[in-house]
Amino acid sequence: MPEDYYCNMHVHDEYSILDGLGSGAKYAVRAKELEQRYIAITNHGNIDGVIKFQQACEEAGVKSIIGCEGYIVLDAKDKQKGEKRSHIVLFVKNEKGWVNIKKILTYANIEGFYYKPRFDPEFLLAHCDGLAISTACSSSFLFQDWGEDLLTELSDRTEVFLEIIPLVGFEPQKAVNEYKVLLHRKYGLPLLATNDCHYVLQGEDDIHEALLCIGGKYKLSDTNRRRFEAKNLYLKSGREMLTALRQQGVVDSKLSEQAVYNSISLAELCSNFRIEKISVYLPNVPGIPSGEEDNFIRKLCAEKLKLYFGERDNFSDYQSRYEEEINSISGQGFIRYFLIVWELISWCRNNDIMVGPGRGSSGGSLVSYLLGITQVDPIKFGLLFSRFISPARIDIPDIDMDFEDIHRPRIRKHLEDLYGQECVAGISTFSKLKGRSAIRDVARVYDVPMIDSDKAAKAVVVRCLDGDSMVYTVEGPKAIRDLAGSSGFRVSCHGHGSRRETREVEQVFVNPDMDMFEMTLESGKKIICSAEHKFWSKYSHIYNGKIYSNVGWRKLRDLKPTDKILTYEHCEVYSHCKQCGKIIYRKRNRDRSFCSLSCLAIYKNLHDNPY
Ligand SMILES: [Zn+2]
Ligand SMILES: [Zn+2]
Ligand SMILES: [Zn+2]
Repeated sequence: MPEDYYCNMHVHDEYSILDGLGSGAKYAVRAKELEQRYIAITNHGNIDGVIKFQQACEEAGVKSIIGCEGYIVLDAKDKQKGEKRSHIVLFVKNEKGWVNIKKILTYANIEGFYYKPRFDPEFLLAHCDGLAISTACSSSFLFQDWGEDLLTELSDRTEVFLEIIPLVGFEPQKAVNEYKVLLHRKYGLPLLATNDCHYVLQGEDDIHEALLCIGGKYKLSDTNRRRFEAKNLYLKSGREMLTALRQQGVVDSKLSEQAVYNSISLAELCSNFRIEKISVYLPNVPGIPSGEEDNFIRKLCAEKLKLYFGERDNFSDYQSRYEEEINSISGQGFIRYFLIVWELISWCRNNDIMVGPGRGSSGGSLVSYLLGITQVDPIKFGLLFSRFISPARIDIPDIDMDFEDIHRPRIRKHLEDLYGQECVAGISTFSKLKGRSAIRDVARVYDVPMIDSDKAAKAVVVRCLDGDSMVYTVEGPKAIRDLAGSSGFRVSCHGHGSRRETREVEQVFVNPDMDMFEMTLESGKKIICSAEHKFWSKYSHIYNGKIYSNVGWRKLRDLKPTDKILTYEHCEVYSHCKQCGKIIYRKRNRDRSFCSLSCLAIYKNLHDNPY
């Protein structure tokens, strides 16, 4: 029998920061394995991960339902020490609901923020159009004095589900479920069975516990730490839900079946909604009429080009590079973007605010240099424009700018004055626990002596040249497994062992959805690393029909078998490189040695990993 009479409508992924475990992609794939048609995302107080989640679900072939488990208090503007915040789950049914959930969370973050983004019944009732509601976990708003009133008012306006969770062994949840059944009888509102998922697979509760410890800076042995009393908060099948409800013994079997099936009814209310990509409209820089922008920038650049390079022997190189760039920028409609950046940087310089010399791929643009956006002459240093903008890249380019910290408010004010307050926004950034520091974090939680965890961290991770991701060597995992054996420090490695039984410290804490690749070096040695890993490489690429060769950082996913990379440690060491004949530096200690620029044969290795 297919399992599609149930779907998980209460799910926390990694965007429930240091609380939810596992990426949206992992959840989506698992939901598909369970033959479930839908899966919801309901992170605590945010919708940060929903686009990624939607993409992951579309790749996996399940329908994503967008939601949020929000924090609700009686009056969000009243901020009292020790207040009790309650949970409520909102689901987006349609475009209107999508607008409303964003309004609610904006309100919660700006006016209602107190430790957490909070909203109140008044604001929710005014913006519940297009949203379906569920009553959440044992922290439900229903346990506030005003809870039942809110329930009835909401149910007058939209669909409300009474959530029951079969947490076997967690006593308080029994009373919660009993109360929901009571309300179901009283108001005729549907019950909804969920599992408040905080991780993907059965048995991941101890990894989840370690994650909570990292979040709260606790050790596993601390007695006063935050912990989840309930176990088994994983993505369940309908059958497992029914079994658990029976074991819990609060809800009779007929109601249990309804509650399980109602997950589908709720999902279907929301299943027509999808977040669509919308185009970006850039404002024009005041003082430069929109028809004049192209001429304006060309005039500006042409003057600087003469001024800076007019006397050089290789002026024609500069000129042709400039032509190529400006035509590409103009052709792709990025002129306005450059003007906005140019205006901002010029304003900073005129107002004695220090600006960085430019970093990232924008350093490869002569136009950026001419406009003063960067201070690196790309031709002198052999930097490529195509790494910054190429015909294959249709998104607006991304120019990183560094400013003096103390002047940020002034810069923001300037932008708001120029373009309007509603056109200036802050952005969130997220960092991941990864690499050696993840291993050290986990080791601290398990009370592994520093000296051992240090050894483990060094053993498993080959020096990562850009700090962006990890490269494992074939030898590495064994070293850490040995250590694991001796210290009781449970680890295993992503890309090693079968996918299913892995207890992946790295997969959990590192980068949950990376594609792992296996590369075979010419020597026959293998390296396993993520597609995002950057190597210092010598590579060729084709641009405008010409083949260019370049040396620089390049992601593995962009490398071709004939390209060459520089790798450290554990790779075959030649005394002379077979490629270029260069002598290779080598220390006596083998695992400290450098290796060569080696030929690669890369093949994707997602399914039949030999390890
Ligand atoms: Zn949670
Ligand atoms: Zn909750
Ligand atoms: Zn929850």
